[in-house]
Amino acid sequence: MERRRTRRVKVGGVAIGGGAPVTVQSMLNTRTTDIEGCVKQIAELADAGCDLIRLAVPDEDSAAAFGVIAKRTGLPLIADIHYSYKLAHLALDNGAKKIRMNPGNMRDFGEIKELARRMADAGVPVRVGVNGGSLDPKFEGMDEADALAKSALECADVFEQCGLKDIVLAIKASDVGTMIAANRKVAGMCDYPLHLGVTEAGTLRSGLIKSAVGIGTLLGAGIGDTVRVSLSAPPVEEVLAGKTLLRSLGLKTDCVEVVSCPTCARTEIDVAGLAAAVERATAHVRLPLKIAVMGCPLNGIGEGKHSHLAIAGGKERSVIMRDGEIVSRVANDMLLPLFMTMLDDYIADYSKNC
Ligand code: SF4
Repeated sequence: MERRRTRRVKVGGVAIGGGAPVTVQSMLNTRTTDIEGCVKQIAELADAGCDLIRLAVPDEDSAAAFGVIAKRTGLPLIADIHYSYKLAHLALDNGAKKIRMNPGNMRDFGEIKELARRMADAGVPVRVGVNGGSLDPKFEGMDEADALAKSALECADVFEQCGLKDIVLAIKASDVGTMIAANRKVAGMCDYPLHLGVTEAGTLRSGLIKSAVGIGTLLGAGIGDTVRVSLSAPPVEEVLAGKTLLRSLGLKTDCVEVVSCPTCARTEIDVAGLAAAVERATAHVRLPLKIAVMGCPLNGIGEGKHSHLAIAGGKERSVIMRDGEIVSRVANDMLLPLFMTMLDDYIADYSKNC
């Protein structure tokens, strides 16, 4: 798939756009003043494969805490700012590697110019985050997708005029069609990298579906450089969903794909439990592996032939396959621990040989 050409923006050592791999983002749901809680959640997200992490900076105490967290984790962190230019400056003082601001909530172009000049000097990019829920009232009455696109480009232009070229646009709406239309519009009008997401997408089930449709449609058309799957769920779910979305489009290969069958009357083992255990155990693994958990030999053997490691459930004993070959027949009550040991061995061998 040919990807849209964009300029490249660097957030610390992480590149967005300009041919860089599409990155996965999430945002902490801990209070930024809860330093220990934030450090713990950042470690969990990074371990799950999150490339970029954002923290809200709603007050001066949070800005100070941001600085401590940035030093403790050593990761390039993004500060999420609304309403206050002072907080944006404090976030820069405290090591923010990118500032997210919403032109719907920060409309003083004089203040934006001062901030932009400082960010340009410091090499810190801005994410212009336009949201359907907080559009500048001056766009009222316009088609929403047009208004979102116009608002984002207008704000980006102010940053450009002040010499800040490192700009990422994020145009989000809770309506999937509007989000797709607005991003398609800006994609044809500029070369800024695009951060994709469906905002306020909902709980795990509806959020995953809306995000897969919205983000997936655009990525499938070559549009989009970084993604956040917004969910009313623990942030680690956003990261796992983002990775799965990218992998399913062939945009990410350094993670484990777990294939499992939907189960039916032929099922002999706890497919859902085993597949969830394998997914949990491999969430941090950065290898292009395919693991199959199948309920019976009917499709299990065939799937196993195309997987690095596989289970095909059987009546009392299940088959384990490695690199397409049957290597073991295991009693079902020992299947989980034995398969987990074989999985660890496989990962260790694969890591050694690659
Ligand atoms: Fe049913 Fe077997 Fe297919 Fe699973 S693999 S859905 S158990 S036929």
